[in-house]
Amino acid sequence: MPSTDSKRDYYEVLGVDRIATRDQIKHAYRQLALKYHPDKSQDPDAAARFRELAEAYAVLSDDMKRKEYDTTGHAGVSERWSTDDLMRDFKFGDFFGGRFGDLSGMFGDLFGRRMRPGAGASRGADLHYDVELTLEEAACGGEREIQLARSEPCTDCGGSGAKVGTKPLSCPDCRGSGQKQDMKMRKDVWLVTLTTCARCQGRGQIVESPCSACQGSGYRFVPHTLNVKVPPGIDDGMIIRLPGQGEVNANGGPSGDLHISPHIRRHSTFERHGADLYMVQSVTFPDAALGKTMCVTGLSGETLHVTIPAGTQSGTALRLNGKGMPKVGEKEKGDLFVVVEVRTPTELSDRERTLLQELAKLHQSA
Ligand SMILES: [Zn+2]
Ligand SMILES: [Zn+2]
Repeated sequence: MPSTDSKRDYYEVLGVDRIATRDQIKHAYRQLALKYHPDKSQDPDAAARFRELAEAYAVLSDDMKRKEYDTTGHAGVSERWSTDDLMRDFKFGDFFGGRFGDLSGMFGDLFGRRMRPGAGASRGADLHYDVELTLEEAACGGEREIQLARSEPCTDCGGSGAKVGTKPLSCPDCRGSGQKQDMKMRKDVWLVTLTTCARCQGRGQIVESPCSACQGSGYRFVPHTLNVKVPPGIDDGMIIRLPGQGEVNANGGPSGDLHISPHIRRHSTFERHGADLYMVQSVTFPDAALGKTMCVTGLSGETLHVTIPAGTQSGTALRLNGKGMPKVGEKEKGDLFVVVEVRTPTELSDRERTLLQELAKLHQSA
């Protein structure tokens, strides 16, 4: 991080007045960021300018940070927030509607660590997809077909948005810059306020006859079917990452990744805790008292034998080693716990009643 006294004034960086509104700040940032985006600009200082802009915008777009900056300047801001803090909640890619992808890779040296190792300056946005699985499916794993739509540059117009055979024209209002400048003298300094060109909405280009395939947007949603390998033992909170299966990059850079989040449906018999499974087994009072070997059905339908020892109390969990869920990437499995629930009879036959009364008498005299 550069020392605070070598830093330029954030308002100067964005070319806005100190009393600029949030919208004016946003417009100024957007225009300058488009101009200095390293994928677009030939300027060797573009990356440095871009980071400077992003930091200025991160501070001035947040009321609390802006107030701190207005009162105490760079020193006050850097005392309260690290660059990491400033950038944390700030998704630059989103700001451009995903057109530039996630730019976080650019801030590697600002953060002191690369948020996405190996990622270049610009890549397509990551996509997220939720998939619901039964507990059995999570245990077995295997292939799963998913369908998703990705936005890709329109093949008809090559992404320009202009009708086939025509080209977008440079906007006559802003002469292709996408922004308008308003110069004002204030305290012997020229202040330049930049606003987005209303005619071209900052694109710098106008499409006279839009491409019919994409309605002039330059993008189309293309459906894709993908086969996803689900590893046995997958659980909520895990993510299956498919590199390069996210959105394409508008500027020819690498595509983003596809992140698949599994959601495991509740099971009617088994409750899952990590790799262990729990099930409840009802046992009669005599069986709990005298002990018994019982049959239960495991998750994959197999018959398992569980020995209820004599004198088992209600709520006791009996462990069946290795009969739980697979552990992702391991040969080992979790355990199955059979929780004993001693059932108290509610409807007694005459014979049962007589026997229980006898038992009760025995207990009283003991
Ligand atoms: Zn098109
Ligand atoms: Zn314009």
